[in-house]
Amino acid sequence: METTPSQHDAPVDAGNIVASDWPRRVLSPAPPQRRDGFQVVIQKDVQQAIHAHGKSILDMEICGLLVGGVFHDDRGPWLHITGSIEGRHATHHAAQVTFTAATWDYAHEVLERDFPGQRIVGWYHTHPDFGVFLSGMDLFIQENFFNLPWQVALVYDPVQGDEGFFVWKGGKSGREPHIVHAGGWTDDTPAEDSAAPAPPPLPVKGDNPAAQTVISPPAPAEPLSPGGTTDRRWWALARRALDRFFS
Ligand SMILES: [Zn+2]
Repeated sequence: METTPSQHDAPVDAGNIVASDWPRRVLSPAPPQRRDGFQVVIQKDVQQAIHAHGKSILDMEICGLLVGGVFHDDRGPWLHITGSIEGRHATHHAAQVTFTAATWDYAHEVLERDFPGQRIVGWYHTHPDFGVFLSGMDLFIQENFFNLPWQVALVYDPVQGDEGFFVWKGGKSGREPHIVHAGGWTDDTPAEDSAAPAPPPLPVKGDNPAAQTVISPPAPAEPLSPGGTTDRRWWALARRALDRFFS
């Protein structure tokens, strides 16, 4: 299948995520499956909620969004999935699920209310009894709405009991092993992120009023990560694109 050429110089690849762009978070206890490089970690209670949602309807696909953030530890960047939002108003077919504009509106509302400061890090849907893979429509959704290097797709087969995460690699979404974590974590605040106190204004000599103008330091920059905390721009784009494709 032909894929749309990317607007980026390099193909989307989780291997290009720069660890230092993201805050430090360390899981405790450290999962033995943690290896070097980008990995997906889902909290066990979130996995259980998704499994329960998936098992509740076995005659069609259900979908939802994955909530969390990108972090780094000594082994590199990693994705932490700490919440999920059930898809509402999605269009369900026996072997296909599509998000509608109302799905996004509902999800955005829940994200802001229940998960302040967190991001949409991917999506999940079920394949009841037909296995774990990404269909043509799934790839379309992934390429158009979850095309940041750290955004992933989770496919769960509630009948066969299999699940898999799909991660960007060389412009394609491939299945990668993931970690289910039941423990906690510790967030570190890197020294460079804690705002250094501004130097006191220089003493001003009274004979130069212009020199008394205090120049405020520039406002703290937005986080380097794409989209900011609530990914407003991304939501607007997704909403607009979905209106076009699915209405
Ligand atoms: Zn699918």
